[in-house]
Amino acid sequence: NGSSLNESETGRTLVIGSSGFIGRFITEACLESGRPTYVLVRSSSNSPSTKATTIKFLQDKGAIIIYGSITNQEFMEKVLRGYKIEVVISAVGGESILDQFTLVEAIKNVHTVKRFLPSEFGHDIDRAEPVEPGLTMYEQKRKVRREIEKCGIPYSYICCNSIAAWPYHDNTHPADVLPPLDRFQIYGDGTVKAYFVAGSDIGKFTVMSINDERTLNKTVHFQPPSNLLNMNEIASLWETKIGRMLPRVTVAEEDLLQRAQVLSANPIGTNPPEMRIPQSVVAAITHDIFINGCQINFSMDKPTDVEVCSLYPDATFQTIAECFDDFAKKIFGNAKAVSKPVTTSNNDICETAAKPEAL
Ligand code: NDP
Repeated sequence: NGSSLNESETGRTLVIGSSGFIGRFITEACLESGRPTYVLVRSSSNSPSTKATTIKFLQDKGAIIIYGSITNQEFMEKVLRGYKIEVVISAVGGESILDQFTLVEAIKNVHTVKRFLPSEFGHDIDRAEPVEPGLTMYEQKRKVRREIEKCGIPYSYICCNSIAAWPYHDNTHPADVLPPLDRFQIYGDGTVKAYFVAGSDIGKFTVMSINDERTLNKTVHFQPPSNLLNMNEIASLWETKIGRMLPRVTVAEEDLLQRAQVLSANPIGTNPPEMRIPQSVVAAITHDIFINGCQINFSMDKPTDVEVCSLYPDATFQTIAECFDDFAKKIFGNAKAVSKPVTTSNNDICETAAKPEAL
């Protein structure tokens, strides 16, 4: 009996992939917004303990846990109907993009979902054209978009650009790793800009957009001017946080392309076993960002484009300087070690081959 829902019961949101990197930020933001938040968790015997810890953390904050997989269409239809889900946010990882086809079918069949956000959370995949194997993942995401549109499901595509962190080309989740303490690897000449958005803001603005008629059937771009920096600038910024300069090593376009190719020879899941999407995808997308400029080389000229700063002009984004403060605190604790003046020249530090001090 769906007609008796009171106000506090509306906005029921199901998040898929909450134990993952992006999904956790989204789920936390969803809970903070006060929405009834349901979390779909795959039960698997070999789950890492971090997954259980994350799920327990979210449960303690009020999330309702449902065990199952989006690949079971009948089950998903039962979940959507039984819990009267109005919004579905999928943050499944790169290897599971096509799993969303059964989810799309389930959403189509129940007719009650008012907004679906498929797993995007990167670039506008209808515009960007990375080299392989990045392109294959984008083609999969494109197929999911076309299916959603064909089925007439109300959607928003979240294009949040890069997570605020040092952009490692060989790590799927750069925000899990501290910025460098020995040397910077700079892609190309380091002058191509990108948007670096804090994970918590990816969550916050994603959740704001699901409540907003202006984002219905739109591509939502995250382009905060304060977070648009190039690699040379973020390297200098990190140097002010750690109080010393680091050598800069150029990673040329050819090097990045070669890494994408070489690494793609490794089957998924073998090197190392915990990698969820092959590293080569990250190298290919890194090339697209910092060589091709895929985040800045287009105009917002489609009727389906909306931008979060225009939608929410009073909302502020965490700056990359603030995010780097948080990284610095992880190294130095809360001792006042951040924003020290840079004391050493690049050449000096090259000779002394700076070692991480506190790690
Ligand atoms: P992760 O690999 O970290 O997490 C994926 C999550 O999806 C896990 O919780 C996983 O559960 C769950 N999942 C996968 N398949 C299923 C299924 N069949 N049923 C239920 N749950 C499932 O993903 P990421 O956070 O890396 O990626 C999410 C999205 O964000 C992707 O589209 C990716 O391209 C994008 N991304 C963007 C970044 C950026 O900087 N802008 C950075 C990283 C990713 P389980 O724990 O059981 O495996």
